[in-house]
This record gives sequence, C-alpha cells and structure tokens, in this order.
Amino acid sequence: MNDVIFVAAELLKGGDAFRVQTPPARLSVFGDPVAHSKSPGFHNAALRACGIDAQYVKIHVRPEDLTAALRALPSADFIGTNVTIPHKAGALATVDEAVDYARKSGAVNTVVVEGNKLIGHNTDGPGLLRAIREDFSADVRDLRVMVLGAGGGAGRAISVQCAMEKCQRLVLVNRTHSKAQALAGELSEDFGGRLVESLPHDPAALHAVLSEIDLIINASSVGMKADDAPLIPAESLKTTHLIYDTVYASGKSRLVQDAEAIGARAANGLSMLLHQGALSFEIWFGQRAPLEAMRAALTGDS
Ligand code: NAP
Repeated sequence: MNDVIFVAAELLKGGDAFRVQTPPARLSVFGDPVAHSKSPGFHNAALRACGIDAQYVKIHVRPEDLTAALRALPSADFIGTNVTIPHKAGALATVDEAVDYARKSGAVNTVVVEGNKLIGHNTDGPGLLRAIREDFSADVRDLRVMVLGAGGGAGRAISVQCAMEKCQRLVLVNRTHSKAQALAGELSEDFGGRLVESLPHDPAALHAVLSEIDLIINASSVGMKADDAPLIPAESLKTTHLIYDTVYASGKSRLVQDAEAIGARAANGLSMLLHQGALSFEIWFGQRAPLEAMRAALTGDS
C-alpha cells in the first residue's frame, strides 16, 4: 500500500500507473484537494480483511478533468471510485445512470463501473441513518429533526434522506435562508405531502423551535476550525437533544462540547464517514463490509 497521490493524467494515459501497483489500484477517491482524505486507510483495511487483490488510492482531479477521468475508469480496469469535494454534482452530471436518491440529492459520491457504463450512487444519507442508529440507538423516522446547513451539499443529501424516511418533523435551517426555503418546497412530496419547514440561521428563531426537536444535525461547515463561533447558543440546547455533528475534522467541535457539558448525547461525523464508506464497499462488492476492520483503521486502533 502506498500514500502516493495520483493525478488524473495517469488515468487518461490508460491506467498503467495503477495496474503496476501491488496490489493493483482499482478503487479511488477523486478530490480537489484530496490529500486530507481518510478513505484509503479504511477501504484498504476492508480490502485486506476480505482478501481482495486490489487497493484504493487518492487521485487529485481538477474540476476541468472530472468528466474525462471518470470516463477513463473502465479502460483502467477500475471497479469504481468515490468522489468528494468539489466533484459530487459533476459526477452526477457525468454518470450514465444514477439511483433515485443520488438524483434527488443532486450528488454522487460512489461510482460503479459496469462494463463501459458508470452508475452513480450516494451513500451519505444512508450512512447518516446507520450512524444515528449506532450512536443513539434511534431511528431518524421516529424523531423530530432539525438540519443546520441544509442548503449545502451534505445538508441537502441529509435533508432528502430525512424526508424520504418520513421523520416526525423536518426543519431545514440555512444561513442563506432562500436555499432552505427552496429545498423545503421541493421535499414536501417525499415527506408524505406534509410541510417541510425552513428557518434562517438566526439564534432567536432557532431557540423558539428547538424545544420541539429531538435530533439536531449539523451539516454546515461550521466547526471545522477549532475557533469557529458556536452554531447554536448553548442555552438553547436541552439534555434530551441528540446532537449529530457531521464535522469530524477538529475532534470535538464546539457544538459537541456544549452538548456534552449539559449531559446531552452527542457524536461527531466519524461514524457517518465510516458507514458511508462501508456502504460504498457493499455497492462495489455486493457483500457486507468488514465494519470493525474499517473502524479500527479509521480510529487508529489497527
Ligand atoms: P458546502 O456545500 O460548502 O456547504 C456549506 C454549508 O455550511 C452551507 O449550508 C453554508 O451556508 C453553511 N455555512 C458555512 N459557513 C457558515 C456560517 N458561518 N454560519 C452558518 N452556516 C454556514 O459543504 P458540504 O460539502 O455540504 O460540507 C459541509 C460539512 O459536512 C463539512 O464540514 C463536511 O466535513 C461535512 N461532511 C461530513 C461527512 C461525513 O461523512 N461525516 C460527509 C459529507 C460532508 P450558505 O448556504 O449560507 O453558504
């Protein structure tokens, strides 16, 4: 296994740079940037645990090269790829077919090569559902949910998933309120024809509604930096809240710390990262992912 960052040109040249690796590189993550990605570590652990003779590598792909790089996957003998920021919408536009949830989310994070065809999936929302079940022993469909950052890429994918689950109440919050409003309008059909509410990211507006919410999901990028301002005033949090922060970059975010300080249950985005990866593995190989091997690689216990 290696920690080399490949580039799109190596795919466009036919893929020999990947074939000569030991084991051959047949899965990847495309990103710009891509150096920070944790995916190779836990995917390679999964491949080893299952005795699959392939490895997963990072490929730096610039937006202008995305379509050609995806199109080059079949002739480079790839099984598939993940795509991360900023390529999820571009991947949806490029694939030959996409599953319904990926289309509704406006994003593909997992591509499968089937012959010469590219099939697009999105495992972010299903990964979040598994993470909530694991961290809180709860199902989204039983909960009143608020999604913060609903207008961003991850927020949209999570909001679509919560609407499809027909959770008990769905409140979409976004700094640019018009994005949350537009998404709320789109989602009412998936939400069993009920109203999906929207709010601007305003402390007073949030405070008024939070007493009637069970699960708060942060899908915004706030919390990625240790000195980010609090996302929700600490006095609006209740001990009964379940708080899921999709951010995992800086350990415990301010939101998670504030929640734990009052005794509320809180988790960061590592479990969603793990489960979205496990679901990608299951899509590529049609078999259960070796979750504990992947978790150990992700948390540094391997
Ligand atoms: P994105 O498309 O750029 O969206 C960013 C979102 O954050 C937008 O809703 C934006 O609001 C909001 N935002 C930014 N700064 C803000 C501020 N100061 N106050 C309030 N809201 C603010 O990014 P993304 O790809 O969705 O990623 C968002 C987060 O999700 C990242 O932290 C990423 O790590 C996390 N994520 C985690 C996983 C996982 O597996 N755990 C998977 C995917 C993403 P506006 O619309 O007003 O700009």
